[in-house]
Amino acid sequence: MPRILVAGGAGFVGSHLMRRLLAQGHEVVCVDNLSTGFVSNIEELLENPNFRFMEADITDPFHIPFDAAFNLACPASPPHYQRLSLETIDACTVGVRNLLRATLRNGGRLVHASTSEVYGDPEVHPQRERYHGNVGTLTERACYDEGKRLAETLCYEYHKRGCSVRIARLFNTYGPFMHQDDGRVVSNFIVSALTGRPLTIYGDGSQTRSFCFVSDTVDALVRFMDLPGEHLPVFNLGNPREMQVIDLARLVLRLTGSAAPIHFLPPAAADPGRRRPCIQRARRALDWRPQVELEKGLQYTIAYFSELLQAQTGRFTASGDVARFQQASADAGALI
Ligand code: UDP
Repeated sequence: MPRILVAGGAGFVGSHLMRRLLAQGHEVVCVDNLSTGFVSNIEELLENPNFRFMEADITDPFHIPFDAAFNLACPASPPHYQRLSLETIDACTVGVRNLLRATLRNGGRLVHASTSEVYGDPEVHPQRERYHGNVGTLTERACYDEGKRLAETLCYEYHKRGCSVRIARLFNTYGPFMHQDDGRVVSNFIVSALTGRPLTIYGDGSQTRSFCFVSDTVDALVRFMDLPGEHLPVFNLGNPREMQVIDLARLVLRLTGSAAPIHFLPPAAADPGRRRPCIQRARRALDWRPQVELEKGLQYTIAYFSELLQAQTGRFTASGDVARFQQASADAGALI
């Protein structure tokens, strides 16, 4: 089986992807600098003889032979990439260039994880791949947005030079193994609801996002790697069901049975107003569409956080039926 490098494999999406690749029998090398990834995400994989973990930074040149690589190495949560703004720019530029160089040298293939943030605060809705975006260079999000845009340009330039590369624009993804301090909306709302703390909404909550359960994202990434052809494909990967942040808060409260209050805070800097992927390209080319409904995916994620918090605090935090949470946890285990 081919040897697959996963850069950023100790992060949320990367760790799910590696589990899937190992289950398929691949040899997997994980490279991660642990800036926002955690060894705890990959603990059980360390026992697997087909798995190797290297604590390293993709911004340093590396010489690991591989047949194929996925690049997920970049902080992806706004508070984290804003805290690590210069490191984020380096990962998107120097790091991506190192990966592209290595891919070209190895004669392999790279699936690069880009982001819906390349569309910025979109004036076109839903977002199709041919939309060029509405991004400012001088904003709190620019280190990530512009970094990811330049990373795509690097892919374009290396593709012209014979490198086999494809670009996956990931929209909001959620699921078990998000870190409880990740800072993104789904984990924030669930952890707050389970602990009875206020759910914090930045702005009035009318901004929209479209949330994709992680097993669907992983499914698409694996199919994308296997897609034949060398034409630099660019696909949106996400779930087109769009929802306002305020409605997400209400849904999380309902599913957790929590009575936690909702608090409205000032809007986040440069927060995009709406976001929904057009996934026609990926649907056609990959014969893929998201399978996990938001309510189900949230139940799986709630079950995960509920178990985690229970282990930390020694008490069951979600109100309602313990058996229902255990079932959700078992169902999620079958998917991921
Ligand atoms: N958000 C919020 N409360 C939170 C975290 C996020 O209202 O505790 C909002 C955030 O301002 C944005 C949306 O939820 O409008 C999604 O934020 P997230 O950080 O998950 O990802 P983004 O899509 O902004 O990168």
